[in-house]
Amino acid sequence: MGAAAWLLSTLPVWALNVVQLEPQERETLQAVLAALDPLISAKKKDGAANLLAWQELYEPLTASQRAFLDEFRAVRAGALGATSHYFGESAATPELVPVGPQQVVKDGAAKPLDPQYLPRAALEAYRRMMEAMQAGLGRRLLVESGYRSPAYQLYLFLFYLPKHGWSVTETNRFVALPGHSEHGNPARQAIDFINEAGINGEDHPEEFEALPEYRWLQEHAGQFSFALSYPRDNAYHTSFEPWHWHYEGS
Ligand SMILES: [Zn+2]
Repeated sequence: MGAAAWLLSTLPVWALNVVQLEPQERETLQAVLAALDPLISAKKKDGAANLLAWQELYEPLTASQRAFLDEFRAVRAGALGATSHYFGESAATPELVPVGPQQVVKDGAAKPLDPQYLPRAALEAYRRMMEAMQAGLGRRLLVESGYRSPAYQLYLFLFYLPKHGWSVTETNRFVALPGHSEHGNPARQAIDFINEAGINGEDHPEEFEALPEYRWLQEHAGQFSFALSYPRDNAYHTSFEPWHWHYEGS
């Protein structure tokens, strides 16, 4: 066994099995999710989950669990055969402004949306665009998801991993790795839209694609410096996301 064991120990630290996590990696992941659960619940209750800082994310974890998280932060989508762009983790915290209270009405019942934040310029452009949509269409879209810190992005990635067969490669088609998401990149700030009736296309993209609001965006969003990020059959190996637009005017 001597030679083989020596070879193994010379492998880089970056040793996650990205195709499918090994049993021990799954165990570590479950322990990490359990350790983070109280923190994430508290942040959600405060409406501040989207602003989660790295320090807060690491605080409840052991040294080896922190190292486990570092392995994910080192993964680049390019290494997974995907072409999603690596934006980096912006060091400077942008000026983030609360979008304010929002609610959808589904089956006659009002349901408040989770608090969202956007960089000021993106928020102002969004508001101007919605005034125009309201005037032209008598409808508007709400911000289901705006800014997400890279730390919260990593948490979401870890949370969804078990639901995508413990596969980093597969999960990456639906949830961006930290540093790869337009939601955490204020220079190209993304917004996930939801309409006032609560249609967001999450389970069935074609439901959002069929909305008059979506057609209006296709015709007019460019005038407000918003662009669709992931059209059908995009080159990024990312699923079709008709609700996900980004602001290009920063
Ligand atoms: Zn999105």
